[in-house]
Amino acid sequence: MKEYKIVLLPGDGIGPEVMAASEVVMDAVMESYGDIKINYTSHPTGAAHYRDTGEILPDHVTKDCVNSDAVLLSAIGLTDVRLADGTEVQPYIMMGLRVAMDVYAGVRPCKLYPNVNSPLKDVDQGIDFVILRENTEGLFASQGGGSRVKGEVVGDTMLITKKGTRRVSKFAFELAKMRNGRPQDGKKMVTCVDKANVFKSMAFFRQNFTDVAEEYPEIDYEYAYIDAMTMYMVKRPASFDVVVTENMYGDILSDLGAGIVGGLGMGPSGEIGDRAMLFQPSHGSAPDIMGQNIANPLATILSAKMMFDWIGFRKDDEELRAAAYRIERAVETLLKQGDVLTPDLGGTSTTSEMGDALAQIIRQQKAI
Ligand code: ATP
Repeated sequence: MKEYKIVLLPGDGIGPEVMAASEVVMDAVMESYGDIKINYTSHPTGAAHYRDTGEILPDHVTKDCVNSDAVLLSAIGLTDVRLADGTEVQPYIMMGLRVAMDVYAGVRPCKLYPNVNSPLKDVDQGIDFVILRENTEGLFASQGGGSRVKGEVVGDTMLITKKGTRRVSKFAFELAKMRNGRPQDGKKMVTCVDKANVFKSMAFFRQNFTDVAEEYPEIDYEYAYIDAMTMYMVKRPASFDVVVTENMYGDILSDLGAGIVGGLGMGPSGEIGDRAMLFQPSHGSAPDIMGQNIANPLATILSAKMMFDWIGFRKDDEELRAAAYRIERAVETLLKQGDVLTPDLGGTSTTSEMGDALAQIIRQQKAI
């Protein structure tokens, strides 16, 4: 019997709703793999939990996450729950987990699935690239810190280290090796996004990226400035395969990436370290639609798919990788059929109906 430990953090807002739909899907696919046992633990974490208990990120939760095979988190944060300084708990929890788990590579796939409307025209070649966001330093390194001079001047620092840049660059090339190349012509390509013409920190990022790139002669690489990159992602998305960038640039580019493949409800993500891994949808807790059972659960379900795939990859478990593959095929089937869709995808179905429909498709698939 192969055993894995997964921590579920359902969080706030629509988080528990999309998590419930994802659990239905994960349970359905695992029915085919009797020799895999997944031990789930779940913790209340987030803004509502902070409001009710005063706890932000208890040590036992952090420890459980660090010692798991993976964490699946759905959404954290409520805009009306604030700390005394006016900030939200969400960044403290996320940065706390990222640092404790050392999940330095933020992997954000931007893939256009069948029948999902992209706001871009001319997407015949498809959109299928990954944004790799350095997850532990960059402009976020000074979060909770920064400097303030006499209430007149405030600064946040862009922190780029050789170690941080090299490990995420290496991750980018290793990821490119595993992928099928960019949709335009199948060429494996890593794009380094920076602002090396202006900032020393970004020139340093580029230099370290280039040193790593030279260790991978079989993979092409290129550079783009962050401002121009936003235009290229809109004008020629099929020309990208793996895009690696600093933390804050990656944060912004991944929302743009989700936008061009159908919205935040379609954007999964994985945050990967050398040991620990955390997966979550790229959307937030969407308090405007919470409690209505209308949120699109696909970003969380596709994050669960990534989670199974990564655990399977690391533990050399082909069955778990097959389970991941089947979840993605089921999502494609559901989208092609087009009759069970949440309102953001143009349908009238509920979150739980979408989870149930996927579970049904999975049960009808031939197990592989
Ligand atoms: P955060 O800063 O916490 O990431 P955000 O500011 O990006 O959050 P979201 O909570 O992601 O905001 O919501 C942005 C908009 O997208 C809202 O109008 C919300 O209703 C919508 N939205 C987000 N996620 C989903 C989803 N899964 N299904 C449908 N609509 C969604």
